[in-house]
Amino acid sequence: MANFADYTVVDLTLALGPETLMWPGVLAPSSEVVETVGRDGNYARLVNFYEHSGTHVDAPNHFVAGGQSVADLPLQTLISPAVVIDASADINGDGDAVLELATVAAWEEKHGLVPAGSVVLLRTGWEDLYDQPQVYGEGPDGLHYPGFGFEAASYLVARGVVGIGIDTLGIDRGVDLDFTVHRQVTLPKQVWHIENLTNLKQLPATGALVFVGVLPLVDGSGSPARILALVPKS
Ligand SMILES: [Zn+2]
Repeated sequence: MANFADYTVVDLTLALGPETLMWPGVLAPSSEVVETVGRDGNYARLVNFYEHSGTHVDAPNHFVAGGQSVADLPLQTLISPAVVIDASADINGDGDAVLELATVAAWEEKHGLVPAGSVVLLRTGWEDLYDQPQVYGEGPDGLHYPGFGFEAASYLVARGVVGIGIDTLGIDRGVDLDFTVHRQVTLPKQVWHIENLTNLKQLPATGALVFVGVLPLVDGSGSPARILALVPKS
């Protein structure tokens, strides 16, 4: 990394506030002003949020009893090269689709093997639907957003990725309320998740570096996180 002027910073993070689109039935972040400049000499708020609000990280202990908390995540994994798989054309708006192993194989055919130590970011196209809550989130017939398939996720974990991320509410597709990949594939192997990413379309397939600015919440099962990508100017 010779010169920062050769890189652009892309923000992969949604705004976090009372309007944030949440998992069904979960309250959005709220806040209360507790100090004002006029009255107290400084402004501050007390903020209340669910650990899985907006763009956030899932730690292993979210589904694995005794697993690492968000404060325990190895620092080395929180700055990682990004592998960006754009499956939006294959998925083509199908809210029950998953990332197939064949799509990963086609990606590798073009770009080489997914490197160990990387974070795999899956673009499903749902980032463009965030302003349609009934499509992005819960609709009249439940949750329908794409996710990582079991085989594809298993392969990526075997490749040695440190984390996976997605532009939807969750890394398992919406209809999978058993959270198969969460429970069986990633979190038991200390592979963390980032959910509700945005702006993935601004990333190259390889070459970006991702910074996972997760809060070190003691015993936390997850945390909202500022996710930034450093992208080489072409
Ligand atoms: Zn989560």
